[in-house]
Amino acid sequence: MADADSERVDSLVDELLETHPPADTGNEKFWGAQYDLGLAWVWHPEGYGGLDLARKHQSTINRRLQEAGASTENRLDNIIGIGMGAGVLVTHGTESQKQRWLRPMFTTEEIWCQLFSEPGAGSDLAGLATRAVQDGDEWVVNGQKVWTTLAQVAKWGMLVARTDPTAVKHQGLTYFIIDMEGPGVEVRPLYQITGEAEFNEVFFEDARVPDSNRIDEVGAGWRVSLTTLMNERVAIGGTATPRGSGAIAGAVQAWEKSGLDDPVLRDELLRLWAEAEASRLTNLRAIEMASLGTPGPEGSTGKLDWANLNKEITSFTLDLLGLEGTLYPGGYQLKPPDYESLTPQRAFLRSRANSIEGGTSEIMMNIIGERVLGLPGEPRVDKDVPWTEVPRG
Ligand SMILES: Cc1cc2nc3c(=O)[nH]c(=O)nc-3n(C[C@H](O)[C@H](O)[C@H](O)COP(=O)(O)OP(=O)(O)OC[C@H]3O[C@@H](n4cnc5c(N)ncnc54)[C@H](O)[C@@H]3O)c2cc1C
Repeated sequence: MADADSERVDSLVDELLETHPPADTGNEKFWGAQYDLGLAWVWHPEGYGGLDLARKHQSTINRRLQEAGASTENRLDNIIGIGMGAGVLVTHGTESQKQRWLRPMFTTEEIWCQLFSEPGAGSDLAGLATRAVQDGDEWVVNGQKVWTTLAQVAKWGMLVARTDPTAVKHQGLTYFIIDMEGPGVEVRPLYQITGEAEFNEVFFEDARVPDSNRIDEVGAGWRVSLTTLMNERVAIGGTATPRGSGAIAGAVQAWEKSGLDDPVLRDELLRLWAEAEASRLTNLRAIEMASLGTPGPEGSTGKLDWANLNKEITSFTLDLLGLEGTLYPGGYQLKPPDYESLTPQRAFLRSRANSIEGGTSEIMMNIIGERVLGLPGEPRVDKDVPWTEVPRG
């Protein structure tokens, strides 16, 4: 029998579909109505696109909306905002920041990007060098970020900058939301192995951020960054997907198309299918555990497992395709990724990044070792040293 929460969710989905039939409603308008009914991030508090319910209900909502022909593409189009930024705002934002940013984020009227990595700071994010200096009610930002996904179309960027270089590296950081269309912000595309330009370099030259766009306290940037990263790992590796979907669906398709009847390959396909299913169920458990508030280190297990498996499955799929698997359009055109034409070849090439983006697999293992298994931490010799005194290459 359905519990009261499930019944409430079901009746709100009915209301949304009745008042905004997907076939006659534009996507932005539909997503706005979805937000207003609390069906955007069901685990958020009421008034911020949620109903204060367990995360598991979101899978039901998304499934029902898809079955009714409604688009859930916003979750992909604005993956950084919806997957990570929203959690940051709900956990650390002020009332006016939540009211200002959450709704247009969900409707994709405003796309978000994440300005964390720098040429000299990736895994060691706390070592970053981009500076923000206070000037009255504003902060002046100078520095460079890199690998910034979606920066080319973003309105807002989640920026971590160093505000106190004399403090130890984790303590001198502050978190801001910067206007990507403002003066002093330059976005340059980077080409990747798939031939697309999915991410960018971003340069700041005296770019200004109002203090009202600061998230949490001055010096609390590391804490806010951790919230972002935990949400990122769930967003990347911890999506509740239907059984047999994603990369493994491509492998099954390639197997059927190949007409092969090799028992060794069939065994391998079945092994990968079983692993994909185990990974999917583990993710569901992690999503349940993170039912309210900030996800914990469980997000790292999902992210690590998904990255390894995705690489293995896409590689196996190319093997099934034989020589055809080696064919890929040449040349580098400056174009954003085309998710519609996800060929097995593109999926294989793109999956190489899975063990880097959102934190490398080695870093995931460090987190799992230290925070899940309770093993001794790796030596951190610069932890208590002022950032200005840490040697940099
Ligand atoms: C497709 C893609 C999209 C991205 N999008 C964004 C984005 O939108 N915004 C953003 O800010 N960043 C983004 N990134 C950057 C990403 O977060 C970094 O690439 C990642 O954190 C690794 O940092 P790095 O590249 O500087 O590698 P490094 O940190 O220099 O690491 C190099 C190697 O050393 C290993 N290593 C480093 N430290 C340790 C350690 N302590 N223990 C064990 N091994 C270690 C790493 O695992 C890796 O193999 C993206 C990356 C990719 C590939």
